[in-house]
Amino acid sequence: MDILTHEAVNVLYPMIYCPPHFQVLFEPDAGFVTPEKAIALYTSDAIQHNADIRGREKIVEWKKEGSGMTMITNRDTYQADRLIICAGAWTGKIIPSIPATLKVTKQIVGWMKPRPNGSSGRAKNWNDFSLGNFPCWFLRDDDGNMFYGFPILPARDFGGPVGLKLALHKRGVEVDPDNVDRNIQQADEEILSNILKKYMPDAAGNALTLKSCLYNNSEDEDFIIDHLPGYDSKVTIASGFSGHGFKFASVIGEILADLAVKGETDLPIEFLRLRGLLITYKWFILIQAVGTSVMNENDYGSSGIVMSRIDAV
Ligand SMILES: Cc1cc2nc3c(=O)[nH]c(=O)nc-3n(C[C@H](O)[C@H](O)[C@H](O)COP(=O)(O)OP(=O)(O)OC[C@H]3O[C@@H](n4cnc5c(N)ncnc54)[C@H](O)[C@@H]3O)c2cc1C
Repeated sequence: MDILTHEAVNVLYPMIYCPPHFQVLFEPDAGFVTPEKAIALYTSDAIQHNADIRGREKIVEWKKEGSGMTMITNRDTYQADRLIICAGAWTGKIIPSIPATLKVTKQIVGWMKPRPNGSSGRAKNWNDFSLGNFPCWFLRDDDGNMFYGFPILPARDFGGPVGLKLALHKRGVEVDPDNVDRNIQQADEEILSNILKKYMPDAAGNALTLKSCLYNNSEDEDFIIDHLPGYDSKVTIASGFSGHGFKFASVIGEILADLAVKGETDLPIEFLRLRGLLITYKWFILIQAVGTSVMNENDYGSSGIVMSRIDAV
């Protein structure tokens, strides 16, 4: 990881305007993961290792019964020795007694179209923002708002949506995950295009696509991985990924398997326990942008850049 001056950023990525009072961290070997492909890969690998995957089946009730656990779904009833619950935004619904505060928020993601013949002279065209020429980035602005984005990915290899992906990493409106208004307002687009106008002016064209999704936020934005109290270590939960959990999927799977099968793990998870909600905000900023912890064939190389006011990191 290198520390760059703002002048160096302007030479390396002239399409990014880096104010002089920003500190910049640069990781040339950073990368990103494509979740859809990664999930398909994990699923097919699991099936080949004899996992029994039941899709489109909703757990309506679960309980301790005798020495094991019983799960009742909309289709069947299952008995198991151990249960791992990772229900994302629905965690609070499936474990109403969870001893942690989880807040589900609606978040907007945009895929923007760079302006043709960019007017600031910093970038010339679409290709300047494409994979290979443009980094994954994370930015904390003067007001403390955090944004992140990715280079434009070739549709032939990655499918869609097409465009320069970016989002505001700040809790959106709190919602009920079963009743989300998926409408997107003009103001949502403006938040994204305003940040581009300021820091990547030639990328600040119209949005090609806007989507909403859900963050499942823990109180301090650290994940929650632990045995659920009251079940003799038979129930393990993984939740509160707060919009930055996907890249850790492999190691989280390892931890959950350890906790469920052995009852403990050698990996350092004390700060993720239900009782130990510590703030590790600084490190989150670094990890979010570089995202190199899940290494499989769906990892793609792309440099990563983190920009923030010098006094904020
Ligand atoms: C806009 C956006 C951007 C993000 N960007 C990043 C990023 O840049 N980097 C990163 O690392 N992470 C990112 N994330 C976060 C990442 O997607 C999440 O951390 C991760 O998907 C959480 O995984 P999960 O398994 O906890 O929840 P989910 O992926 O939500 O999975 C939960 C599953 O449980 C199922 N379920 C719920 N209730 C029941 C029930 N009763 N019965 C059966 N099944 C049930 C749901 O259908 C769902 O399939 C982002 C998320 C969003 C929304």
